[in-house]
Amino acid sequence: MIGEACCYTVLYFLLCLIFVFPPDEIAGMGLTVEGLLGSWFGSEIMAFVQYHQRRTAATLFIHSLILPGYVVMMIQTQAWVVPWLSSLSSSVFACLLSLAVAPVVTAACTIAWWRRNNWRRHPFSKCLRLFVDTPHANHPDSWIAVAMEINIQYRRVDKLSTRTSSTTQLVATDSWLLQVGPYSMAAIPLADTLVVIEGAINNTLDTRVSRAGNPQLLKLRTRCVTKKTGDITFRLSSNLLSELERKLVIPILNTGQVVVQKSLADQFLEVFVKTVNQNPPVTDTLQDGSADSCIGCMTEIANVKLERRCEMVEVVGERAPGRCLACSCRPMWCLTCMSKWFAARQDQNEPETWLSSRAPCPTCRSPFCLLDVRILTPKSVSSAAAS
Ligand SMILES: [Zn+2]
Ligand SMILES: [Zn+2]
Ligand SMILES: [Zn+2]
Repeated sequence: MIGEACCYTVLYFLLCLIFVFPPDEIAGMGLTVEGLLGSWFGSEIMAFVQYHQRRTAATLFIHSLILPGYVVMMIQTQAWVVPWLSSLSSSVFACLLSLAVAPVVTAACTIAWWRRNNWRRHPFSKCLRLFVDTPHANHPDSWIAVAMEINIQYRRVDKLSTRTSSTTQLVATDSWLLQVGPYSMAAIPLADTLVVIEGAINNTLDTRVSRAGNPQLLKLRTRCVTKKTGDITFRLSSNLLSELERKLVIPILNTGQVVVQKSLADQFLEVFVKTVNQNPPVTDTLQDGSADSCIGCMTEIANVKLERRCEMVEVVGERAPGRCLACSCRPMWCLTCMSKWFAARQDQNEPETWLSSRAPCPTCRSPFCLLDVRILTPKSVSSAAAS
């Protein structure tokens, strides 16, 4: 009897543990709070803040049902439980009953408190109110304007959104760093975010091993430099560090001198830039001084032209099979974006073949190799050099 009850207890709490901290497989099957109640939360992409306010409330309530669920399960499966409960004195029974019901009542009261006046008292609404401009800072609904801004930014494709654990998600939009957990959410404006690398773990447990090696996991702590909010701590793959760094205004601090492994894309960019700089540059004959901005990032100047020269320098049999074709597209890309484009079109499991491979031109799809990528020099610079 005791043995069977122990078995049921272990099995029940094991299943609860899997539900609370779902592994990828369980999350993929939709056996999570989001998967089961997603339709009630609304659309995450349209209303990120409101979606996660409802999700944290639902998660709190569902997790509070674990203990009463255990009692119900034991009553259903073990015949001795009901006679044993009725043999207890009324005060002990009342004590046990209130212990089982207390989490549900507390969760229900907390959610009702959060939900009053359009989620005004939700911890995330209070957190957002900290960042409202001074004239409206005291208005209880002032957080809605900040929430709208976050919702709009979350819809953009260039945000960084990654799962930092089975239950937490980190999002970096154009001007906000957000972390959402099972019951909590935190936000810091990127302009005020200071990120410190606290340490690194070599990720030997990741089964998704590629030829490029396991990514390193970095332990990061972020703090708001202007307002007193709680720190956000999370673990981030070293592959995503440069992406996060691009969003930040204050450079990342590496006080512990942690050796950060560069991502494969960053390593390739270094070699790509070095190789392309050895190719003879071409003169920009189309524009007079005013260069276009890169169509990929819109921040750099389009400074790369694909002009076939591998035919002249190619050693027969040394390069990948197939041929490069002439491309007459006008320059529209910067060197970094061209490197990313080239790397994305290679076999991700064979990084050692990338340098000798080809990729299609982003515009006309003519194959090109690294020898054909040439830096564009403005007409004025090249004529000055000639004179
Ligand atoms: Zn670019
Ligand atoms: Zn082309
Ligand atoms: Zn070529």
